Amino acid sequence: MEEHLLVRKIDMGTVIDHIPPWKAENVLRLLELDKIKRSEYSLIVLHNVPSRKYGRKDMIKIYRHHISHDEADIICLVYPTITVNYIRDWRVEKYKPKIPEKIVGRIRCPEPTCISNSPREPIKSRFRVIGELRAIQCEYCDTMVEFERMADLVIRREGS
Ligand SMILES: [Zn+2]
Repeated sequence: MEEHLLVRKIDMGTVIDHIPPWKAENVLRLLELDKIKRSEYSLIVLHNVPSRKYGRKDMIKIYRHHISHDEADIICLVYPTITVNYIRDWRVEKYKPKIPEKIVGRIRCPEPTCISNSPREPIKSRFRVIGELRAIQCEYCDTMVEFERMADLVIRREGS
């Protein structure tokens, strides 16, 4: 009931639902926010709303913008409870995320001496995904990063 008061349906956009409570900011860091900030899109963030399934949850609605499948896949890696819904003319289409094999250029390697962090080497970071360990591993220096830490290591883009 309460949820319906807070959550208005939208006709077009993306709804990222079942985010663990108070983690919406981490999810936003995984998105190309600069695209949204410089546009006509609107962003609605709901914190700590009641959830039948999980007790409490966060929710993000991006009005008139569809996030990329890549972005959806990475968010689902970090928070596996998340569901991503694309809405077109009021119709809701659930996106089934895939576990990516590699993540290129989105996450910074936490190892300061890693070659991918060298300002003189313009190389993109590259990680392989190791699902069984719930971690990604740097292809250059083998440093492991647990899925939960990925949001802290997202490479900031211009304007985001
Ligand atoms: Zn590395």
